[in-house]
Amino acid sequence: MMPKNYLFGKKQDELEKIVQLLNLPAYHGRQIAEWLYKKEVSTISEMTNLSKTVRTLLSKEYEMGLLKFLKVQESIDGTKKYLFETISGKFIETAYIPEKNRSTLCVSSQVGCKMGCLFCMTGKQGFQGQLSVGEILSQLKSLPERKQITNIVYMGMGEPFDNLQNVMDSLEILTSDWGFAMSPRRITVSTIGIIPGMKEFLESSKCHLAVSLNSPFEEERKQLMPVEKVYSLPKVLDVIKSFDFGKQRRVSFEYIMLKGFNDTKRHVNELVRLLHGIRCRVNLIRFHPIPGTPLESSDFSTIQEFQNALKAKGIITTLRASRGQDIAAACGLLSTEELVKG
Ligand code: SF4
Repeated sequence: MMPKNYLFGKKQDELEKIVQLLNLPAYHGRQIAEWLYKKEVSTISEMTNLSKTVRTLLSKEYEMGLLKFLKVQESIDGTKKYLFETISGKFIETAYIPEKNRSTLCVSSQVGCKMGCLFCMTGKQGFQGQLSVGEILSQLKSLPERKQITNIVYMGMGEPFDNLQNVMDSLEILTSDWGFAMSPRRITVSTIGIIPGMKEFLESSKCHLAVSLNSPFEEERKQLMPVEKVYSLPKVLDVIKSFDFGKQRRVSFEYIMLKGFNDTKRHVNELVRLLHGIRCRVNLIRFHPIPGTPLESSDFSTIQEFQNALKAKGIITTLRASRGQDIAAACGLLSTEELVKG
């Protein structure tokens, strides 16, 4: 049997090319995009405005390629963690975070991660592969709560700009009128600062950017995030400063609060100096301990002092609520390492 190709995750122009290669008119490609991203079908045979002949021709070479979730765990705070199996039999996690006025989906962009950040479980797991566009978007499409989702963050497993093309294509499908038609203002992509990817993202999309900062000092940041050796924070900030974000687009900086490591007055002063001239917000995040690191979370009072000190210097600073910690769905805890070994 011929190996199948997958329709879900293809852009409208790619679908038009696919049908043209089957000697069919291009408008069928637009019809298929509508079935994939706007309607609720799980097989090609349900695409009833295509003739039976067209559906049969398509089914010979293609299938939908939509992932289904295998397992869901629910936290006492309502956060849910979904486990998906990828087409090649690997595992990824996705977090669904309902709040009063919005519901956020935290998607993965890779299976595991190469970047080795000291505070992150995914980093400990190592890298097992890239997710295809369809695998990234299945995390939305196959979710029972998909209709409630108002915001998407690329903050799950993996570094999005280490899977740049697939992440960019997934954003195009999410935000195009022919796709999911979501506003780019409701989508945030988080990076540790992979500069080439960041530049392309800033130029070709309108989604928000979040940068994982964690220490304003080079030596400390290197200890936490090996990426600092290649793309240093001052260079990342130079790119951000040179880009016009306009009024609608936002850049935020993620800062995990680590006891006695990055939570002092000295850090506040250096952050203020570095972020001068950037219209941004800083998100402080409590650290969730993971095995095998000496790191501990700062005390709540220290975090509050840190927040107040930044605010006093005119930097919008929020403390991110910790969600789903009991099911290991909180920031930095996503990992399918056990499944990889098993
Ligand atoms: Fe990878 Fe992000 Fe974890 Fe760093 S924080 S290891 S980039 S998933």
